[in-house]
Amino acid sequence: MNSLLQTLSCADDYDPDSLPVARAQALILSLVAPVPGFERAFLRLGLGRVLGEDVIAPMNVPGHDNSAMDGYALRHAELAAEAETKLVIGGTALAGRAFEGRLPPGSALRIMTGAIVPEGLDTIVPQEVTRVEGESVIIPPGQRAGQHFRRAGEDLSAGQPALLAGKRLRPAEIGLLASLGQVEVTLRRRVRVAIFSTGDELCSIGTSLAPGQVYDSNRYTLWGMLDRLGCEVRDMGVVKDDPAALEAALVAAAKSSDVIITSGGVSVGEADFVRELMARLGEVAFWKIAMKPGRPMAFGRIGDAWLFGLPGNPVAVMVTFYQFVRPALLKLMGAEAAPLPSFRVPSLAALKKAPGRTEYLRGLLSSEAGEWRVQPTGAQGSGILRSMSDANCLIVLEHERGNVAVDDLVSVQPMDGLV
Ligand code: AMP
Ligand code: MG
Repeated sequence: MNSLLQTLSCADDYDPDSLPVARAQALILSLVAPVPGFERAFLRLGLGRVLGEDVIAPMNVPGHDNSAMDGYALRHAELAAEAETKLVIGGTALAGRAFEGRLPPGSALRIMTGAIVPEGLDTIVPQEVTRVEGESVIIPPGQRAGQHFRRAGEDLSAGQPALLAGKRLRPAEIGLLASLGQVEVTLRRRVRVAIFSTGDELCSIGTSLAPGQVYDSNRYTLWGMLDRLGCEVRDMGVVKDDPAALEAALVAAAKSSDVIITSGGVSVGEADFVRELMARLGEVAFWKIAMKPGRPMAFGRIGDAWLFGLPGNPVAVMVTFYQFVRPALLKLMGAEAAPLPSFRVPSLAALKKAPGRTEYLRGLLSSEAGEWRVQPTGAQGSGILRSMSDANCLIVLEHERGNVAVDDLVSVQPMDGLV
Protein backbone atom coordinates (compact mmCIF):
# COMPACT_ATOMS: atom_id res chain seq x y z
CA MET A 1 0.00 0.00 0.00
CA ASN A 2 3.02 2.27 0.26
CA SER A 3 2.48 2.99 -3.34
CA LEU A 4 -1.05 4.37 -3.05
CA LEU A 5 -0.10 8.01 -3.15
CA GLN A 6 2.68 7.28 -5.61
CA THR A 7 0.35 5.50 -7.96
CA LEU A 8 -2.10 8.35 -7.77
CA SER A 9 0.39 11.16 -8.18
CA CYS A 10 2.03 9.46 -11.18
CA ALA A 11 -1.15 9.77 -13.22
CA ASP A 12 -0.72 12.77 -15.53
CA ASP A 13 -4.19 14.15 -14.96
CA TYR A 14 -4.11 13.84 -11.16
CA ASP A 15 -4.92 17.13 -9.49
CA PRO A 16 -5.95 16.61 -5.84
CA ASP A 17 -7.27 20.19 -5.72
CA SER A 18 -9.81 19.64 -8.46
CA LEU A 19 -10.38 15.99 -9.14
CA PRO A 20 -13.29 15.22 -11.49
CA VAL A 21 -15.88 12.84 -10.03
CA ALA A 22 -15.31 10.18 -12.68
CA ARG A 23 -11.55 10.25 -12.07
CA ALA A 24 -11.95 9.84 -8.31
CA GLN A 25 -14.44 7.00 -8.82
CA ALA A 26 -12.06 5.22 -11.19
CA LEU A 27 -9.07 5.67 -8.87
CA ILE A 28 -10.94 4.22 -5.91
CA LEU A 29 -12.23 1.25 -7.91
CA SER A 30 -8.78 0.54 -9.29
CA LEU A 31 -7.45 0.08 -5.74
CA VAL A 32 -10.08 -1.89 -3.83
CA ALA A 33 -10.60 -5.65 -4.22
CA PRO A 34 -13.13 -8.11 -2.78
CA VAL A 35 -12.61 -9.05 0.88
CA PRO A 36 -11.78 -12.73 1.46
CA GLY A 37 -14.12 -15.09 3.26
CA PHE A 38 -17.34 -17.00 2.66
CA GLU A 39 -20.11 -18.44 4.78
CA ARG A 40 -23.01 -20.84 4.31
CA ALA A 41 -26.41 -19.58 5.33
CA PHE A 42 -30.04 -20.54 5.10
CA LEU A 43 -31.51 -19.33 1.85
CA ARG A 44 -33.63 -16.54 3.35
CA LEU A 45 -30.63 -15.01 5.11
CA GLY A 46 -29.09 -14.49 1.69
CA LEU A 47 -31.50 -11.70 0.76
CA GLY A 48 -29.49 -8.60 -0.10
CA ARG A 49 -26.19 -10.47 0.21
CA VAL A 50 -23.67 -11.42 -2.47
CA LEU A 51 -23.55 -14.97 -3.81
CA GLY A 52 -20.13 -16.49 -3.09
CA GLU A 53 -20.01 -19.21 -5.74
CA ASP A 54 -21.62 -20.17 -9.02
CA VAL A 55 -24.77 -22.22 -8.51
CA ILE A 56 -25.00 -25.02 -11.07
CA ALA A 57 -28.57 -26.25 -11.51
CA PRO A 58 -28.72 -29.80 -10.08
CA MET A 59 -31.95 -30.45 -12.00
CA ASN A 60 -34.18 -29.12 -14.72
CA VAL A 61 -36.74 -26.44 -13.88
CA PRO A 62 -39.43 -27.24 -14.81
CA GLY A 63 -38.63 -30.87 -14.23
CA HIS A 64 -41.03 -32.15 -16.91
CA ASP A 65 -42.66 -30.98 -20.10
CA ASN A 66 -45.87 -29.39 -18.86
CA SER A 67 -48.81 -27.30 -19.90
CA ALA A 68 -48.87 -23.49 -19.72
CA MET A 69 -52.68 -23.38 -19.97
CA ASP A 70 -55.83 -25.14 -18.88
CA GLY A 71 -57.09 -26.92 -22.00
CA TYR A 72 -56.30 -29.98 -24.12
CA ALA A 73 -52.98 -31.62 -24.98
CA LEU A 74 -52.88 -33.29 -28.37
CA ARG A 75 -50.82 -34.28 -31.41
CA HIS A 76 -50.60 -31.33 -33.80
CA ALA A 77 -50.23 -33.66 -36.79
CA GLU A 78 -53.77 -34.94 -36.15
CA LEU A 79 -55.38 -31.51 -36.64
CA ALA A 80 -57.01 -30.54 -39.92
CA ALA A 81 -55.38 -27.42 -41.37
CA GLU A 82 -58.53 -25.64 -42.54
CA ALA A 83 -61.39 -27.25 -40.60
CA GLU A 84 -62.46 -28.16 -37.10
CA THR A 85 -61.10 -31.43 -35.67
CA LYS A 86 -63.07 -33.70 -33.38
CA LEU A 87 -60.97 -35.66 -30.84
CA VAL A 88 -62.10 -38.07 -28.12
CA ILE A 89 -61.28 -36.89 -24.60
CA GLY A 90 -59.02 -39.73 -23.50
CA GLY A 91 -58.27 -38.73 -19.91
CA THR A 92 -57.27 -35.95 -17.55
CA ALA A 93 -53.93 -34.67 -16.22
CA LEU A 94 -53.80 -32.33 -13.21
CA ALA A 95 -50.86 -30.41 -11.73
CA GLY A 96 -49.19 -32.90 -9.42
CA ARG A 97 -51.34 -35.77 -10.72
CA ALA A 98 -50.05 -37.19 -13.97
CA PHE A 99 -52.11 -39.07 -16.54
CA GLU A 100 -50.77 -42.61 -16.37
CA GLY A 101 -52.32 -44.34 -19.40
CA ARG A 102 -51.54 -44.21 -23.10
CA LEU A 103 -53.56 -41.88 -25.26
CA PRO A 104 -54.80 -43.64 -28.42
CA PRO A 105 -54.62 -41.89 -31.81
CA GLY A 106 -57.52 -39.51 -32.46
CA SER A 107 -57.81 -38.39 -28.86
CA ALA A 108 -56.91 -35.39 -26.69
CA LEU A 109 -55.98 -35.17 -23.01
CA ARG A 110 -57.84 -32.76 -20.76
CA ILE A 111 -54.97 -30.92 -19.02
CA MET A 112 -54.48 -28.22 -16.36
CA THR A 113 -51.71 -25.63 -16.07
CA GLY A 114 -48.54 -27.21 -14.71
CA ALA A 115 -49.64 -30.80 -15.39
CA ILE A 116 -47.12 -33.13 -17.07
CA VAL A 117 -47.65 -33.50 -20.82
CA PRO A 118 -47.28 -37.20 -21.68
CA GLU A 119 -44.75 -38.17 -24.34
CA GLY A 120 -46.02 -37.89 -27.88
CA LEU A 121 -48.32 -34.93 -27.24
CA ASP A 122 -46.82 -31.69 -28.50
CA THR A 123 -49.42 -28.94 -28.47
CA ILE A 124 -51.81 -27.39 -25.95
CA VAL A 125 -55.10 -25.84 -27.02
CA PRO A 126 -56.59 -23.46 -24.46
CA GLN A 127 -59.97 -24.46 -23.11
CA GLU A 128 -61.57 -21.12 -24.16
CA VAL A 129 -61.29 -21.85 -27.89
CA THR A 130 -62.67 -25.39 -27.67
CA ARG A 131 -66.19 -26.84 -27.51
CA VAL A 132 -67.13 -30.06 -25.80
CA GLU A 133 -69.63 -32.39 -27.53
CA GLY A 134 -70.43 -35.42 -25.40
CA GLU A 135 -67.22 -37.43 -24.95
CA SER A 136 -65.32 -35.37 -27.53
CA VAL A 137 -63.76 -31.97 -27.90
CA ILE A 138 -63.90 -29.77 -31.04
CA ILE A 139 -60.62 -28.00 -31.88
CA PRO A 140 -60.82 -25.01 -34.25
CA PRO A 141 -58.29 -24.69 -37.09
CA GLY A 142 -55.23 -22.41 -36.83
CA GLN A 143 -53.44 -24.00 -33.87
CA ARG A 144 -49.66 -23.55 -33.91
CA ALA A 145 -47.50 -26.67 -33.33
CA GLY A 146 -45.89 -26.55 -29.86
CA GLN A 147 -48.05 -23.74 -28.54
CA HIS A 148 -48.51 -23.25 -24.77
CA PHE A 149 -46.08 -26.07 -24.14
CA ARG A 150 -43.42 -25.57 -21.43
CA ARG A 151 -40.29 -27.61 -22.08
CA ALA A 152 -38.46 -29.36 -19.23
CA GLY A 153 -35.46 -27.18 -18.32
CA GLU A 154 -36.68 -24.10 -20.22
CA ASP A 155 -36.25 -21.98 -17.07
CA LEU A 156 -33.12 -23.60 -15.61
CA SER A 157 -31.30 -26.39 -17.31
CA ALA A 158 -29.56 -29.17 -15.30
CA GLY A 159 -25.78 -28.82 -15.32
CA GLN A 160 -25.85 -25.19 -16.43
CA PRO A 161 -25.01 -22.21 -14.19
CA ALA A 162 -28.26 -20.87 -12.73
CA LEU A 163 -26.58 -17.92 -10.99
CA LEU A 164 -23.01 -16.68 -11.06
CA ALA A 165 -20.86 -15.72 -8.08
CA GLY A 166 -21.13 -11.99 -7.41
CA LYS A 167 -24.87 -11.81 -7.95
CA ARG A 168 -26.66 -9.77 -5.30
CA LEU A 169 -29.58 -11.84 -4.12
CA ARG A 170 -32.89 -10.07 -4.66
CA PRO A 171 -36.30 -11.65 -4.18
CA ALA A 172 -36.10 -13.08 -7.72
CA GLU A 173 -32.82 -14.87 -7.00
CA ILE A 174 -34.07 -16.17 -3.63
CA GLY A 175 -37.09 -17.64 -5.43
CA LEU A 176 -34.95 -19.01 -8.24
CA LEU A 177 -32.69 -20.81 -5.75
CA ALA A 178 -35.76 -22.17 -3.99
CA SER A 179 -37.03 -23.50 -7.33
CA LEU A 180 -33.81 -25.55 -7.43
CA GLY A 181 -34.47 -26.87 -3.93
CA GLN A 182 -31.48 -25.05 -2.39
CA VAL A 183 -31.80 -24.92 1.40
CA GLU A 184 -28.52 -23.09 1.94
CA VAL A 185 -26.39 -20.73 -0.11
CA THR A 186 -22.73 -19.78 -0.06
CA LEU A 187 -22.36 -16.05 0.56
CA ARG A 188 -19.47 -13.66 0.57
CA ARG A 189 -18.87 -12.61 4.13
CA ARG A 190 -20.22 -9.19 5.04
CA VAL A 191 -17.91 -6.22 4.71
CA ARG A 192 -17.18 -4.77 8.16
CA VAL A 193 -17.52 -1.04 8.27
CA ALA A 194 -16.66 1.17 11.25
CA ILE A 195 -18.31 4.58 11.32
CA PHE A 196 -17.83 7.59 13.53
CA SER A 197 -18.64 11.27 13.39
CA THR A 198 -16.21 14.02 14.28
CA GLY A 199 -17.05 17.42 15.71
CA ASP A 200 -17.05 19.18 19.10
CA GLU A 201 -20.58 20.40 18.40
CA LEU A 202 -22.05 16.91 17.95
CA CYS A 203 -24.26 15.24 20.49
CA SER A 204 -25.68 11.71 20.36
CA ILE A 205 -29.43 11.20 20.37
CA GLY A 206 -30.76 10.33 23.79
CA THR A 207 -28.82 13.14 25.46
CA SER A 208 -29.88 16.79 25.73
CA LEU A 209 -28.40 19.51 23.58
CA ALA A 210 -26.30 22.29 25.09
CA PRO A 211 -26.40 25.67 23.28
CA GLY A 212 -24.63 25.44 19.94
CA GLN A 213 -24.77 21.67 19.78
CA VAL A 214 -26.50 19.60 17.10
CA TYR A 215 -27.57 15.99 17.12
CA ASP A 216 -25.32 13.70 15.14
CA SER A 217 -27.45 12.59 12.20
CA ASN A 218 -24.67 11.38 9.90
CA ARG A 219 -24.14 8.14 11.76
CA TYR A 220 -27.80 7.38 11.23
CA THR A 221 -27.93 8.08 7.50
CA LEU A 222 -24.64 6.18 7.12
CA TRP A 223 -25.95 3.26 9.14
CA GLY A 224 -29.08 3.21 6.97
CA MET A 225 -27.18 3.24 3.68
CA LEU A 226 -24.72 0.61 4.91
CA ASP A 227 -27.39 -1.65 6.34
CA ARG A 228 -29.27 -1.57 3.04
CA LEU A 229 -26.09 -2.63 1.27
CA GLY A 230 -25.75 -5.58 3.63
CA CYS A 231 -22.65 -4.35 5.46
CA GLU A 232 -21.84 -5.17 9.07
CA VAL A 233 -21.78 -1.78 10.78
CA ARG A 234 -19.72 -0.96 13.85
CA ASP A 235 -20.96 2.35 15.24
CA MET A 236 -18.15 4.06 17.15
CA GLY A 237 -20.11 7.13 18.13
CA VAL A 238 -18.98 10.75 18.18
CA VAL A 239 -15.30 11.62 18.37
CA LYS A 240 -14.32 15.12 19.49
CA ASP A 241 -12.06 17.36 17.41
CA ASP A 242 -9.10 16.24 19.43
CA PRO A 243 -6.01 14.61 17.90
CA ALA A 244 -5.57 11.98 20.61
CA ALA A 245 -9.23 10.91 20.54
CA LEU A 246 -9.24 10.83 16.76
CA GLU A 247 -6.05 8.80 16.64
CA ALA A 248 -7.39 6.27 19.13
CA ALA A 249 -10.61 5.94 17.15
CA LEU A 250 -8.84 5.48 13.81
CA VAL A 251 -6.43 2.89 15.21
CA ALA A 252 -9.24 0.92 16.85
CA ALA A 253 -11.39 1.12 13.72
CA ALA A 254 -8.55 -0.04 11.48
CA LYS A 255 -8.02 -3.12 13.64
CA SER A 256 -11.61 -4.29 13.53
CA SER A 257 -12.89 -3.39 10.08
CA ASP A 258 -12.39 -3.52 6.35
CA VAL A 259 -13.57 0.05 5.85
CA ILE A 260 -13.64 3.14 8.05
CA ILE A 261 -16.09 5.91 7.22
CA THR A 262 -15.82 9.18 9.09
CA SER A 263 -17.78 12.37 8.58
CA GLY A 264 -16.69 15.91 9.27
CA GLY A 265 -13.29 17.40 9.88
CA VAL A 266 -12.05 17.41 6.29
CA SER A 267 -13.09 20.95 5.35
CA VAL A 268 -10.60 23.81 5.11
CA GLY A 269 -10.97 24.90 8.73
CA GLU A 270 -10.21 21.51 10.20
CA ALA A 271 -8.41 19.50 7.55
CA ASP A 272 -4.90 20.31 8.63
CA PHE A 273 -4.64 18.38 11.84
CA VAL A 274 -6.82 15.55 10.54
CA ARG A 275 -4.67 15.37 7.43
CA GLU A 276 -1.49 15.23 9.49
CA LEU A 277 -2.89 12.56 11.71
CA MET A 278 -4.27 10.38 8.94
CA ALA A 279 -1.07 10.72 6.96
CA ARG A 280 0.93 9.63 10.00
CA LEU A 281 -1.28 6.60 10.66
CA GLY A 282 -1.56 5.43 7.11
CA GLU A 283 -1.60 6.61 3.56
CA VAL A 284 -4.30 9.10 2.84
CA ALA A 285 -4.96 11.39 -0.10
CA PHE A 286 -6.97 14.54 0.49
CA TRP A 287 -9.05 15.36 -2.48
CA LYS A 288 -11.00 18.41 -3.38
CA ILE A 289 -13.42 16.86 -5.78
CA ALA A 290 -14.88 19.00 -8.53
CA MET A 291 -18.42 18.50 -7.32
CA LYS A 292 -21.20 20.09 -5.34
CA PRO A 293 -22.08 19.21 -2.66
CA GLY A 294 -19.18 17.32 -1.13
CA ARG A 295 -16.03 19.00 -2.30
CA PRO A 296 -13.54 17.82 0.36
CA MET A 297 -12.96 14.12 0.86
CA ALA A 298 -10.15 11.96 2.21
CA PHE A 299 -9.46 8.55 0.75
CA GLY A 300 -6.76 6.12 1.69
CA ARG A 301 -5.73 3.28 3.87
CA ILE A 302 -4.93 2.87 7.54
CA GLY A 303 -3.51 -0.54 8.45
CA ASP A 304 -5.66 -3.09 6.64
CA ALA A 305 -8.69 -0.82 6.35
CA TRP A 306 -9.80 1.54 3.61
CA LEU A 307 -10.64 5.00 4.84
CA PHE A 308 -13.29 7.35 3.50
CA GLY A 309 -13.19 10.72 5.26
CA LEU A 310 -16.48 12.26 4.13
CA PRO A 311 -17.47 15.89 4.59
CA GLY A 312 -19.61 16.81 7.59
CA ASN A 313 -22.65 18.32 5.95
CA PRO A 314 -25.49 15.79 6.04
CA VAL A 315 -26.41 16.01 2.35
CA ALA A 316 -22.76 15.93 1.29
CA VAL A 317 -22.37 12.73 3.30
CA MET A 318 -25.17 11.03 1.38
CA VAL A 319 -24.08 12.28 -2.03
CA THR A 320 -20.42 11.32 -1.57
CA PHE A 321 -21.47 7.98 -0.12
CA TYR A 322 -23.62 7.15 -3.13
CA GLN A 323 -21.08 8.33 -5.70
CA PHE A 324 -17.83 7.00 -4.18
CA VAL A 325 -18.32 4.73 -1.18
CA ARG A 326 -21.19 2.63 -2.53
CA PRO A 327 -19.38 1.44 -5.68
CA ALA A 328 -16.25 0.74 -3.62
CA LEU A 329 -18.26 -1.25 -1.07
CA LEU A 330 -19.95 -3.25 -3.81
CA LYS A 331 -16.55 -4.19 -5.19
CA LEU A 332 -15.30 -5.06 -1.68
CA MET A 333 -18.44 -7.18 -1.20
CA GLY A 334 -17.51 -9.13 -4.33
CA ALA A 335 -20.64 -7.97 -6.14
CA GLU A 336 -20.77 -7.83 -9.91
CA ALA A 337 -20.19 -4.29 -11.15
CA ALA A 338 -23.41 -2.50 -12.00
CA PRO A 339 -23.64 1.26 -12.50
CA LEU A 340 -26.45 3.12 -10.75
CA PRO A 341 -29.42 3.23 -13.11
CA SER A 342 -29.62 6.66 -14.69
CA PHE A 343 -31.84 8.12 -17.38
CA ARG A 344 -32.65 11.48 -18.92
CA VAL A 345 -35.87 13.41 -18.43
CA PRO A 346 -36.94 17.01 -19.10
CA SER A 347 -36.37 19.50 -16.30
CA LEU A 348 -39.39 21.50 -15.12
CA ALA A 349 -37.10 24.25 -13.86
CA ALA A 350 -34.24 26.33 -15.23
CA LEU A 351 -31.05 25.39 -13.35
CA LYS A 352 -27.89 27.44 -12.93
CA LYS A 353 -24.76 25.44 -13.51
CA ALA A 354 -21.13 26.37 -14.20
CA PRO A 355 -19.02 23.96 -16.28
CA GLY A 356 -16.05 22.40 -14.51
CA ARG A 357 -17.70 20.46 -11.71
CA THR A 358 -20.42 17.85 -11.28
CA GLU A 359 -23.48 19.06 -9.38
CA TYR A 360 -26.02 16.87 -7.64
CA LEU A 361 -29.42 18.35 -6.94
CA ARG A 362 -32.12 16.65 -4.95
CA GLY A 363 -34.94 16.04 -7.40
CA LEU A 364 -38.53 14.96 -7.51
CA LEU A 365 -39.48 12.76 -10.44
CA SER A 366 -43.15 12.89 -11.31
CA SER A 367 -45.23 11.86 -14.27
CA GLU A 368 -48.00 13.58 -16.16
CA ALA A 369 -49.91 11.60 -18.75
CA GLY A 370 -47.17 8.98 -18.63
CA GLU A 371 -44.32 11.43 -19.31
CA TRP A 372 -41.70 11.60 -16.57
CA ARG A 373 -40.02 14.87 -15.68
CA VAL A 374 -38.05 16.24 -12.75
CA GLN A 375 -37.85 19.33 -10.59
CA PRO A 376 -35.50 20.23 -7.75
CA THR A 377 -36.86 19.87 -4.22
CA GLY A 378 -36.61 23.27 -2.56
CA ALA A 379 -33.50 24.74 -0.96
CA GLN A 380 -30.35 22.88 -1.94
CA GLY A 381 -28.01 23.83 0.94
CA SER A 382 -25.77 20.89 1.79
CA GLY A 383 -26.98 20.94 5.38
CA ILE A 384 -30.66 20.63 4.44
CA LEU A 385 -31.52 16.98 4.90
CA ARG A 386 -35.19 17.77 4.50
CA SER A 387 -34.78 18.26 0.77
CA MET A 388 -33.10 14.86 0.59
CA SER A 389 -36.10 13.35 2.30
CA ASP A 390 -38.46 15.15 -0.10
CA ALA A 391 -36.48 13.83 -3.07
CA ASN A 392 -36.87 10.58 -4.97
CA CYS A 393 -33.83 11.07 -7.20
CA LEU A 394 -30.58 12.93 -7.63
CA ILE A 395 -30.37 15.24 -10.64
CA VAL A 396 -26.84 14.91 -12.02
CA LEU A 397 -25.48 17.92 -13.89
CA GLU A 398 -22.34 16.58 -15.52
CA HIS A 399 -18.86 18.08 -15.27
CA GLU A 400 -18.86 19.98 -18.56
CA ARG A 401 -22.49 21.01 -18.48
CA GLY A 402 -23.63 24.66 -18.36
CA ASN A 403 -27.01 26.19 -17.46
CA VAL A 404 -30.15 24.13 -17.95
CA ALA A 405 -33.24 25.69 -19.55
CA VAL A 406 -36.80 24.56 -18.86
CA ASP A 407 -37.51 21.32 -20.79
CA ASP A 408 -33.81 20.54 -21.35
CA LEU A 409 -33.02 16.90 -20.67
CA VAL A 410 -31.13 16.18 -17.44
CA SER A 411 -29.78 12.91 -16.02
CA VAL A 412 -31.40 11.51 -12.91
CA GLN A 413 -30.42 8.68 -10.57
CA PRO A 414 -33.57 7.30 -8.91
CA MET A 415 -33.04 6.61 -5.23
CA ASP A 416 -35.25 3.57 -5.02
CA GLY A 417 -35.32 0.56 -7.26
CA LEU A 418 -38.32 -1.71 -7.67
CA VAL A 419 -36.48 -4.61 -6.11
P1 AMP B 1 -17.37 19.93 9.05
O1 AMP B 1 -17.18 19.20 7.76
O2 AMP B 1 -16.88 19.15 10.21
O3 AMP B 1 -16.81 21.32 8.96
O4 AMP B 1 -18.94 20.09 9.24
C1 AMP B 1 -19.72 20.81 8.32
C2 AMP B 1 -21.12 21.01 8.85
O5 AMP B 1 -21.76 19.78 9.01
C3 AMP B 1 -21.20 21.70 10.20
O6 AMP B 1 -22.32 22.55 10.21
C4 AMP B 1 -21.40 20.54 11.14
O7 AMP B 1 -22.04 20.92 12.35
C5 AMP B 1 -22.25 19.63 10.33
N1 AMP B 1 -22.03 18.26 10.77
C6 AMP B 1 -20.84 17.64 10.83
N2 AMP B 1 -20.98 16.39 11.27
C7 AMP B 1 -22.30 16.21 11.49
C8 AMP B 1 -23.07 15.11 11.96
N3 AMP B 1 -22.50 13.93 12.27
N4 AMP B 1 -24.41 15.25 12.06
C9 AMP B 1 -24.99 16.41 11.73
N5 AMP B 1 -24.32 17.49 11.29
C10 AMP B 1 -22.98 17.41 11.17
MG1 MG C 1 -16.43 19.62 12.18
